[in-house]
Amino acid sequence: MSAIPTTARKLKNYVGGQWIESRTAQYENVYNPATKELICQVPLSTREDLEHAAEVAQAAFEKWKKVAVPRRARILFNYQQLLSTHKDELARLITIENGKSLSEAIGEVQRGIENVEFAAGTPSLMMGDSLATIATDVEAANYRYPLGVVGGIAPFNFPMMVPCWMFPMAISLGNAFILKPSERTPLLTERLAELFTEAGLPDGVFNIVYGAHDVVNGILEHPEVKAVSFVGSKPVGEYVFKKGSEHLKRVQALTGAKNHTIVLSDANIDDTITNVVSAAFGSAGERCMACAVLTVEESIADEFIARLKEKTLGVKMGNGLDDGVFLGPVIREENKQRTLSYIEKGIEEGATLLTDGRERMQGDGYFIGPTIFEGVTPKMTIWKDEIFAPVLSVIRVKNLKEAVEIANKSEFANGACLFTGNAHAIRYFRENIDAGMLGINLGVPAPMAFFPFSGWKSSFYGTLHANGKDSVDFYTRKKVVTARYTEPTFE
Ligand code: NAD
Repeated sequence: MSAIPTTARKLKNYVGGQWIESRTAQYENVYNPATKELICQVPLSTREDLEHAAEVAQAAFEKWKKVAVPRRARILFNYQQLLSTHKDELARLITIENGKSLSEAIGEVQRGIENVEFAAGTPSLMMGDSLATIATDVEAANYRYPLGVVGGIAPFNFPMMVPCWMFPMAISLGNAFILKPSERTPLLTERLAELFTEAGLPDGVFNIVYGAHDVVNGILEHPEVKAVSFVGSKPVGEYVFKKGSEHLKRVQALTGAKNHTIVLSDANIDDTITNVVSAAFGSAGERCMACAVLTVEESIADEFIARLKEKTLGVKMGNGLDDGVFLGPVIREENKQRTLSYIEKGIEEGATLLTDGRERMQGDGYFIGPTIFEGVTPKMTIWKDEIFAPVLSVIRVKNLKEAVEIANKSEFANGACLFTGNAHAIRYFRENIDAGMLGINLGVPAPMAFFPFSGWKSSFYGTLHANGKDSVDFYTRKKVVTARYTEPTFE
């Protein structure tokens, strides 16, 4: 199968190691957001498609769970090699279907590969604990086992990295997996499946069912699906968490964000501005760790904001495949229109436009330029809502305490950043900010694979997060064996 799409072919589901046509008659067009070119059509698969995949996955699980853990790990090592060899091809696919710049896509592929590397450590990660003597002649040991079939529901903004938060670890731990990628970015997952099979994964352990809410509901209700990993927006995440829990499944739902970045007067202004521009406008602001609100200490605000504006106006926009492009399009026309209505709302509610993205809606694609609002307050809709676009709100504050109080008013609490050289301020920030992923003098504090992706408040529903040791606990269950030994007879 060709990696780079040349025609608008119809995608097939991947079940039991075969590409099989969905039973549906409904297909959705998938566009390159930079050119509006039709790149493929994705099936909105049916409940029956999902049920078939669940049966196949369950049968594969029965064999896969018995495969020795080091053998499973070896397949993950092979997969890591193959993904690395195909890095450029995978990154180009991401840019074509998502719109982000090629350099950001390469970064995303790298983050995905790191998840596979982490998952290859299963022999150590899956180890249980034991205690030789818990009472006279009695010992106890704790063993980990996989759950069965796990479902994954992914968003459009990281077509590789986010699915890689889920399936490599779940599979390495002995589960079978059904992935439902975003219907807006379905292409890359084909290659993820093909390369995993090439790495030696048995058929039926990793399956893809394309679609939208019918497939999601099928995953949430199917009795053979024991756990669900969801990443996406808050309303859908809430729904998935409630419905999955109602059907007695483990659910982890990583949801929306409105991340605050605080700049104190002692920060290195040049470095901070470079980081903020990248965090606010990189990937067209379509990142759950994007900087959405910037609070700047009053004493440096005039100079900082003037230089931020200058740097923002210099940002190069265009097709992410072109050299030097930093800012690509948003994903679809409706996202562009939604962003435009937020810009109008911001003006209506009294914020001042410092840079106006509407002046840079270039080319054929869904482009909207980097937009900065000044004089934003927590009462405004543009402060409250996740806009998920290249729109940054700026607020002037007296000091760190006021900045933290403002950030803590948000219903979301994914990440937060602080720029300063002051150790006391760093400690104050760490102890008082309500957010799960903190950055000190960096703009996008997305944890690496071996740490949990630990959003708080409305940014996460569940108990165990994606990645790190949390993911080992999420995708396994434990047996504790307590054993009494009778008196030794060989003295
Ligand atoms: P989305 O919620 O629209 O879609 C996510 C998934 O849910 C998709 O697979 C989609 O098909 C499915 N879905 C959508 N509507 C549904 C419905 N009514 N019923 C059942 N399933 C439905 O999210 P998106 O626009 O693809 O992604 C952007 C969102 O994801 C943002 O809110 C962003 O913050 C969030 N996100 C969060 C994290 C995190 O770690 N917290 C990471 C990446 C993205």
